Amino acid sequence: MKRIVLARRPQGEPVAEDFRLEDAAMPNPGEGEVLVRVTDISLDPYMRGRMDDAKSYAKPVEIDHTMEGGAVGEVIASNHDRFKPGDTVFGMFGWASHGCLSGRELRKLDPSHGPATNALGVLGMPGFTGWFGLMEYGRPKKGETLVVAAATGPVGSMVGQMAKLLGLRVVGVAGGAEKCALAKEKFGFDECLDHRAYADAKEMRAALAAACPDGVDIYFENVAGKVMEGVMPLMNVGGRIPLCGLISWYNAGALGGNMTGEKDNLPKLWRTILVQRLHVHGFIISDHFDRYAEFLADAGPRVAAGQISIQEDVAEGLEAAPAAFIRMLSGGNFGKQIVKVG
Ligand code: NDP
Repeated sequence: MKRIVLARRPQGEPVAEDFRLEDAAMPNPGEGEVLVRVTDISLDPYMRGRMDDAKSYAKPVEIDHTMEGGAVGEVIASNHDRFKPGDTVFGMFGWASHGCLSGRELRKLDPSHGPATNALGVLGMPGFTGWFGLMEYGRPKKGETLVVAAATGPVGSMVGQMAKLLGLRVVGVAGGAEKCALAKEKFGFDECLDHRAYADAKEMRAALAAACPDGVDIYFENVAGKVMEGVMPLMNVGGRIPLCGLISWYNAGALGGNMTGEKDNLPKLWRTILVQRLHVHGFIISDHFDRYAEFLADAGPRVAAGQISIQEDVAEGLEAAPAAFIRMLSGGNFGKQIVKVG
């Protein structure tokens, strides 16, 4: 079997040399274990955090260990009575061609949920993240205005599409004209702004103010940086901010410092939260998997009925994973980033 390991910890933006493709012995399933041939791997922004040796909500990947991640594949040998060869399953196999996990760590996929890759995106962890953050902490109400950035990724597109189905005005922020067209034409957003077209938070704010004439009731936070600084002054009284991700800062080393690394905006931010009586709620989706079945029951039929659309970006071959991952962190992905192992 083949796998990709973390060769060293990145300094800022990851580079190809931070990863290594290597051969490894094929695992032998022990008692209660299942051997799987991986077909598709999910690449997700959280993996950037796992590459750093910093205190976080999860342990970092060790040097020379397989890069962590969710994947789907086909059972080829099983010592567990719930799984048999030919079953399609999801598990945390990492960036590898094969994986061996205990049956307790695997989930058999429901064929009514469409292609197996749906379990990595729209009906997997990212789609669940968007749905849960919106419903639980966004508390959407018909007629309100929602802003979400990384609008065409699996989290942002779920947030925007669910909000549209619930009757909100949805304004997306995405990188480039092609992504903005996707957000409006395929995902049905009312408006989408290209963050690359605005030099700073001030310009971003002016564009958002024009797109949100009634102010912003829900800012679903995926990226931070310029978008967040632009949205904050537009928040309506009683607004909600599901705090989901900060991707514009993941490579910048800015998380330990002030908001932009340039000037200290913390007092202004804190004051806005007070004066506008905002509800800001940080969440990590792995704390909430007790709600996953509820999500599938709501979103599964909507996906099957075509009410929620899907966009995937598929990189071919395990060896393509590092470049696809690096590209995704800077917005080069066009939809949910998947690696087809073959
Ligand atoms: P995406 O597929 O949307 O990929 C990341 C996107 O982030 C890029 O395509 C790019 O989109 C955008 N981006 C990157 N850099 C910047 C920047 N400097 N400014 C603005 N946008 C930028 O990822 P996901 O949908 O999987 O994840 C979205 C967010 O949700 C991430 O922050 C992620 O960490 C977070 N998340 C949090 C979870 C939790 O438990 N809290 C769970 C899952 C995800 P574009 O080109 O459009 O700007």
